Amino acid sequence: MFSIQNFTVESLAQQFGTPLYVYDGNKIEAQISTMREAFAGTNLKIKYACKALTNINIMKLMRKNGVDIDVVSIQEAHLAILAGYEPNQIQYTPSGVAFSEVQEAVTMGLRMNLDSLPLLEKFGQTYGNTFPICLRINPHIMEGGTLKISTGHKDSKFGISIEQANEIYDIVQKYDLQVVGLHQHTGSDFKNAHVIIEAAEKLFGLAFQYFPNLEFIDLGSGFKVAYREDDHVTDMEKLGKGVVKVFNDFCQQYGKDVQLWFEPGKFLVSECGYLLTSATVVKHNPARNFVGVDSGLNHLIRPMMYDAYHEILNGSNPDGTEKEKYDIVGYICETDTLGKDRDLPVVHEGDIIVIKNAGAYGFSMASNYNSRFRPAEVMIYNGNAQLIRKRETMEDILKNQVVVEV
Ligand SMILES: *Cc1c(COP(=O)(O)O)cnc(C)c1O
Repeated sequence: MFSIQNFTVESLAQQFGTPLYVYDGNKIEAQISTMREAFAGTNLKIKYACKALTNINIMKLMRKNGVDIDVVSIQEAHLAILAGYEPNQIQYTPSGVAFSEVQEAVTMGLRMNLDSLPLLEKFGQTYGNTFPICLRINPHIMEGGTLKISTGHKDSKFGISIEQANEIYDIVQKYDLQVVGLHQHTGSDFKNAHVIIEAAEKLFGLAFQYFPNLEFIDLGSGFKVAYREDDHVTDMEKLGKGVVKVFNDFCQQYGKDVQLWFEPGKFLVSECGYLLTSATVVKHNPARNFVGVDSGLNHLIRPMMYDAYHEILNGSNPDGTEKEKYDIVGYICETDTLGKDRDLPVVHEGDIIVIKNAGAYGFSMASNYNSRFRPAEVMIYNGNAQLIRKRETMEDILKNQVVVEV
């Protein structure tokens, strides 16, 4: 039987029901340590990109481990405050939001990361040099697993183009803006670690030329984790060695011990998460065998949206030697494949089917499509399994519906 820490998936399913998201808090701590070790020798700050998994208890765990937060909306910032963060530990990196939301963020005291020239201009007009800011630069580097998750190339909506450095500088001069940070984020799942160094060097160039008062350089994220056994992953240790060297050289030339920031989402929480489902039907059709489960693209959209591969196990019988090839499909009324052509130990109705790497962009992208309830969430930490979100009920589905005479 497959276990998470020392809980079998069947005992978890029995206690909390399925579909169920389960997170291993100690795995998150191990990932944090891996990063700290890889970048030892720099003034490292980790900012958890919380959009990957926004349960407040996960944020509390990050805070306990000295990890700050990167948010992309005001609502995430409010969650971070509820998790115990001080506003100045929260970096706000919105993309193209209304200026009223930026004003709200300033009022809350968040650290601002600005991503367009018009926004920079408005910010200058409104606040002058009263607040420290960071600039999100688009370094024009094509990376990331697929175009859908790449953000640092020249056709991406994100950031201010590095080719507009002069325009940035004009606005900074005009309003005497306090630029304390430069940021770039090339997108998720970069394959070649060298892109981070290439991007860093572009930011160093800007720093030398235009920004003498930086407190930090934020190199974003995009670290790749293993989604299958032989997957290419970011070798943190090797990446760390490369980055530490160029970064320390930069600090020396710059004449200041600048902080090195990263904002990982996936790296910290992807592998900690499991989506536990129950096999509701096993169907032997002439062309294919299907395992239907009590979940689907409403709970985990990555396979259908990004063609993402998630490893799937028969948690009730992970080591069975008698195997069959199955498509694992959801219960949503449209094509809803979670995994294709998977060799699994023979599946029986009621078996617990486990989908791995479900921590990042799993629950946080879940919906009520087909008017299904979103799953419950459980965190296992130091040997305790605790419910950290209740399963939804019909009340949640109806909560904001206004019933009128028709
Ligand atoms: C989504 C996001 C991240 C996290 O990306 P991962 O691939 O999950 O590590 C980091 N920074 C910003 C600005 C983001 O929008």
